[in-house]
Amino acid sequence: MEKLDIVLYPDSGLREKCVAIPEMTDELDSLIDEMFYTMYDAPGIGLAAPQIAVQQRLIVVDVSETKDQPIALINPEIVQSTGDITWEEGCLSLPGVYAKVTRPSDILVRGMDRDGKQIEFEANDLLAVCIQHEIDHLNGTMFIDHLSGLKRTRALQKYRKLQEQED
Ligand code: ZN
Repeated sequence: MEKLDIVLYPDSGLREKCVAIPEMTDELDSLIDEMFYTMYDAPGIGLAAPQIAVQQRLIVVDVSETKDQPIALINPEIVQSTGDITWEEGCLSLPGVYAKVTRPSDILVRGMDRDGKQIEFEANDLLAVCIQHEIDHLNGTMFIDHLSGLKRTRALQKYRKLQEQED
């Protein structure tokens, strides 16, 4: 299995709106396997296609501690949302940066699964947070965009410092 390169902020590909996927294909199925492999290896709990330089509406998530509840969603949509939850979020495209973001805590999600079947299900708490974070990526939005100006500036300063240390 091939591990995919994760695109890092501020790559412009992370700011694009991704296109809908017309149908399930064998290539897409292999890509989903590679995305899970890359996500578990990172390690992370979610990965969106633009994070591996594919500008298409596809996300994978697994918020279980046992890492055995993979969910792949094609053309995911949030149909309903309610409640709120504040979670300290991170992102594989912004390594080392964490910040509290408030989002709806209960969502109804619709999309296509990897068998090409249309599905709809409820997600709560961390799973809801993770799915919203990944769907944001498909619209060119990153979790830092949900922060106030000052908090965003601080988070990005920290990120730049960390990136400089990497070089
Ligand atoms: Zn992310």
